[in-house]
Amino acid sequence: MPKPDFWKNNKRYYDLKSYWRNLFGCNVHKLQIDAGFTCPNRDGHIATGGCIYCDGRGSKLRQKGELPSVSRQIQGGKKFYKPHASKYVAYFQTFTNTYAPVEKLRSLYDEALAQDDVVGLSIGTRPDCVGPDVINLLSDYAKNYHVWLELGLQSMHDETLKLINRGHNFQQFLDAVEALAGKNIHLCAHIIVGLPGETDEEILQTAKTIAVLPINGIKIHSLLALEGTDLGEMYKNGSIKSMSKDKYVSLVANILEILPADMVIQRLTADGYRDIFLAPDWAMNKLDVLNSINKELERRDSYQGKQYK
Ligand code: SF4
Repeated sequence: MPKPDFWKNNKRYYDLKSYWRNLFGCNVHKLQIDAGFTCPNRDGHIATGGCIYCDGRGSKLRQKGELPSVSRQIQGGKKFYKPHASKYVAYFQTFTNTYAPVEKLRSLYDEALAQDDVVGLSIGTRPDCVGPDVINLLSDYAKNYHVWLELGLQSMHDETLKLINRGHNFQQFLDAVEALAGKNIHLCAHIIVGLPGETDEEILQTAKTIAVLPINGIKIHSLLALEGTDLGEMYKNGSIKSMSKDKYVSLVANILEILPADMVIQRLTADGYRDIFLAPDWAMNKLDVLNSINKELERRDSYQGKQYK
């Protein structure tokens, strides 16, 4: 069978590392930044409880104590990754990174882009936090820099979004994608495989929908039950069961087959959170999950985009 170009990466999908090597001709690394944002789904603007799987730290990055400045965080990250990368993308990761007045956003993003070898931004946010002022700001940056906006969707099914307390619906995601399209801002959608109550068909429907939208990348997460979250409680009292590794691997392989071959795969499983991790146990071995997904595609003699229509 004809081999798509991305097979050069020895994987059967187009990962972010390969995409950036193609684009910049060198290794590029994301540097995670916690810029001190909050989230409207936690601070009472939309809700206070947050998504049922959210541990309240916004990501594994948030630590206790005073937050170092954006530039200090970048300098620290560069020291760590220097042997492996020569350019960097500043990744505003923790909580909702467009949830502030636009002048504050500009100052934080400018600080990141002023650092040597930082070629762009990747900004994690929610679909209900990208108003016209934020879109104008990002499209200005996109004229001179490489800009990704990561939009949390998790599922296209409103019933699921309600159940997991996302605080937004699918239409708001579609509205955000439409407003951001054609502005040279690269969009990355986040989805979760294994959300309570979702059938395999519903999970694949979310992937099929993303496949036909103007979206450039995807992060696929496994659902993690963490201590101190509502989901963790549901897991402990037996009202939900976690997905098996085989099932997860098979569903992710199905999703990769459905997505277009040029969609950048930014993530294929969730990891981290070791201090508060409950289940599923297989999710702690990220490398094993990634290898298993690639092996499953090999076993099927398949690859990303094979079923894309
Ligand atoms: S949107 Fe993100 S930060 Fe906000 S509650 Fe949900 S998971 Fe937590």
